[in-house]
Amino acid sequence: MAGVQKFRAIVKTFLRLASKAGPSIVPGMSYETELAVAKEAVRKASLLCSAAQSGLIDAEKHDKADKSPVTVADYGAQALVLDTLAKAFPNDPAVGEEDSGDLRQPENAELFASVVSYVQRIEPGLEADSILAAIDRGSHEGGKQGRFWTLDPIDGTKGFLRGEQYAVALALIENGEVVLGVLGCPNLPVDPSNPASPKGCLLFAVKGQGAFQAPLADLAAATSISTDSVAEPEKAVFCESVESGHTAHGRSATITQALGTSVEPFRMDSQCKYAAVSRGQASVYLRLPTRPSYEEKIWDHAAGYIVLKEAGGQIADTFGEPLDFSLGRTLKKNKGIVATSPGVFQAVIEAVVQSS
Ligand code: AMP
Ligand code: MG
Repeated sequence: MAGVQKFRAIVKTFLRLASKAGPSIVPGMSYETELAVAKEAVRKASLLCSAAQSGLIDAEKHDKADKSPVTVADYGAQALVLDTLAKAFPNDPAVGEEDSGDLRQPENAELFASVVSYVQRIEPGLEADSILAAIDRGSHEGGKQGRFWTLDPIDGTKGFLRGEQYAVALALIENGEVVLGVLGCPNLPVDPSNPASPKGCLLFAVKGQGAFQAPLADLAAATSISTDSVAEPEKAVFCESVESGHTAHGRSATITQALGTSVEPFRMDSQCKYAAVSRGQASVYLRLPTRPSYEEKIWDHAAGYIVLKEAGGQIADTFGEPLDFSLGRTLKKNKGIVATSPGVFQAVIEAVVQSS
């Protein structure tokens, strides 16, 4: 009897420690299958986006009700990723940026036909109805219960339209916490120190297991990535959004001056900025609110967040508060983003808070 009690006490202690340490040490929770499926889904979507970026015609673009642009590739990438996830994990809901509402309108028939054509080049068996259904799997509200995926099929659509950087961003959130992320960056040079190196990277991370990068063309060739070791803020390289509507460029200039750096931030679209800090190409990514009411979307940050954290980086909002992914489709309680390599985090947060 005493033996049984002792055994129960050991199991109880183990479960208590396991739940404190996070899901990655719970047996069977290494996310191996989730990671493999997510990488394959993002690889396929990245292929579609690359094919579409080179030949976009006007009929393949469209302005949403909020006037932000959306293309055949946004819809096609969302269809491919959510269909792939649905087949592997039929019970997992998803929070995706797009829905099929506009695509179903008769005036957008040409746009829809083009989406179907791009998707079928990658997934020949996926019929029009299934494409619409897959896109609409992204309507989940998020929150703190259970697990769900979040997807930005093309983060940085404006960069995509300019022929520059963009990312396919997919993450898994469990009980409000980001546990896995994959970033497909089709235009990012594989070698961070050589802009002329071949383009196309896949970055990925699972909580507690480190961050990695592989060429999109050879996912088996993954290598570990980490942030830089800069300790003096005056030596930090900053990056920010290209779009002045998405981050306050004037305020970042005030912050870099206060920190004693004379080098201007380099500008890049999409979560490729998280990739840049995670690979040591930049030390700091600032996203400074341009209007008080804007709420950052979870799909714009979840994948980049876990890749950066696992690469050794630190991240908070512009008040130094931790990001809270448990509150629905947006980061309601946060304002802006400050993501850095570890050596400069404190100094940068202080300068950002002082600049408000
Ligand atoms: P970036 O490529 O860094 O400029 O970020 C692109 C993302 O900015 C898009 O996916 C949008 O969801 C998001 N966005 C749109 N409006 C705003 C805004 N006013 N402030 C911050 N982000 C925004
Ligand atoms: Mg986005």
